Amino acid sequence: MMPLTSQDKEKILSFLESRLDPKVYDTWCRSLEFEPAGDNAYRVPTANPFYRDWLEKLLRKPLEDAFTNLFGRAPDLVFQVNAGPLAALSPVYAETPSSKPAAAPLEPAPVIPDFVYNPNYTFENFIEGPSNRMAFAAATAVSESPATLYNPLFIHGGVGLGKTHLLQAICHAILQRNGSAKVLYLSCEDFVNGYIYGIQKKTLEAFRSRYRNADVLVVDDIHFLADKEGSQEEFFHTFNALHMAGRQMILSSDQPAGDIRSLTQQLLSRFRSGFEARIMSPAYETRLAILRGKADARHVDVSQEVLGYIASIVETNIRELEGALTKVLGYAALSKRPVDLELAQEVLRETPAPAPASLSIAEIQQVVARYFRKKVSDLHSRRWTKSTSQARQICIYLCRKFTGTSLEELGSHFGGKDHSTMLYSIKKVEKLLVKNASVRADVERLTHEISGK
Ligand code: ADP
Ligand code: MG
Repeated sequence: MMPLTSQDKEKILSFLESRLDPKVYDTWCRSLEFEPAGDNAYRVPTANPFYRDWLEKLLRKPLEDAFTNLFGRAPDLVFQVNAGPLAALSPVYAETPSSKPAAAPLEPAPVIPDFVYNPNYTFENFIEGPSNRMAFAAATAVSESPATLYNPLFIHGGVGLGKTHLLQAICHAILQRNGSAKVLYLSCEDFVNGYIYGIQKKTLEAFRSRYRNADVLVVDDIHFLADKEGSQEEFFHTFNALHMAGRQMILSSDQPAGDIRSLTQQLLSRFRSGFEARIMSPAYETRLAILRGKADARHVDVSQEVLGYIASIVETNIRELEGALTKVLGYAALSKRPVDLELAQEVLRETPAPAPASLSIAEIQQVVARYFRKKVSDLHSRRWTKSTSQARQICIYLCRKFTGTSLEELGSHFGGKDHSTMLYSIKKVEKLLVKNASVRADVERLTHEISGK
């Protein structure tokens, strides 16, 4: 396919202009590019997957009509996220007055490092629970009426707890309501890299106008501003410009704003001027509901017992929770075995918990003994009251989980018992974790205590 001549492109654009809402045309069409891509096909580059999906929905039909009308047939149009430089890929934000040549080419900025867009990150796929209720409520409120209540919306919480999911869900929802909203989602790292590039190439103006013309600016992982004075200063001005113009800002961070290293007072007070919502680690019930959701989304039938087991052993991070499910399903498929508790235990038992490696078995024994009001020697002995043997089993389970010590060696720390006794104890606890809420609570509390050491 030949490249389009500029006259042809003009013709296509004026056809679109005659067909589309002027606002939509100004926002989305002026910067359209058509790159030849094989026989009878053009590639239409876009800034990121949000825009790709959106453009495709909005423009495929009108563009096909334009080509057919002007040249007699429509080519294949491939809407594609530009893997190359971030040139002119964002929609051109129509500036007022609109007589200004909107398509003034922006200097290419650095490649988007790891923009991971996920079509599954929607509100529908987000499981609400006590750990994320505030953040979820604020996120939906913002998506329903941006720039009214919570501005900025500042969501913080540990790694893998759903911040990116919520941020992208807001973008989806806003664009769904209003396709011409100028929603700009980026990671803070992109912002910092773009800023540095802008300084080097003396193109800060283009950099600034990109951000300052957004209706909704979403910056993920804002803690990346830590120790970066220049970028903080720049972001401060961006923030003010958008705030003055009554635009919505949404930020996420893996720490509360006050904990971001060397954050300037002025920026800190801006971050705190809106609504700060924290996402915490989900409790067992929420973890179970999330797993159920993920299993349903993959259309696999997994028993409550197996999901309960997975939810009981992966406690803090939802990304790992999903990873554990994936591992179990993958293993079942490979070995052509049913997804049952036995298989799940086989696959996941070897996953040592992320714990301070320095913690010794003796230290864990002390924690557990104190917790159950036993003597450490009771944990070694063969005493057989129910409460002692359960404390011992839980201790064995936790030692295995936190130290990954082999079963043989573990036995030697529990009064010279053999490895099958160790295995029996661990399996016993795993069963109880699924069935018995009080054991589950004990193990959770102990796990927190041990991981906090
Ligand atoms: P963060 O950005 O906080 O590190 P992510 O948003 O990347 O975490 O979430 C990690 C994974 O966990 C994603 O696959 C996400 O879909 C999933 N996840 C997190 N919270 C929830 C939730 N409440 N419901 C459903 N899935 C969730
Ligand atoms: Mg994230």
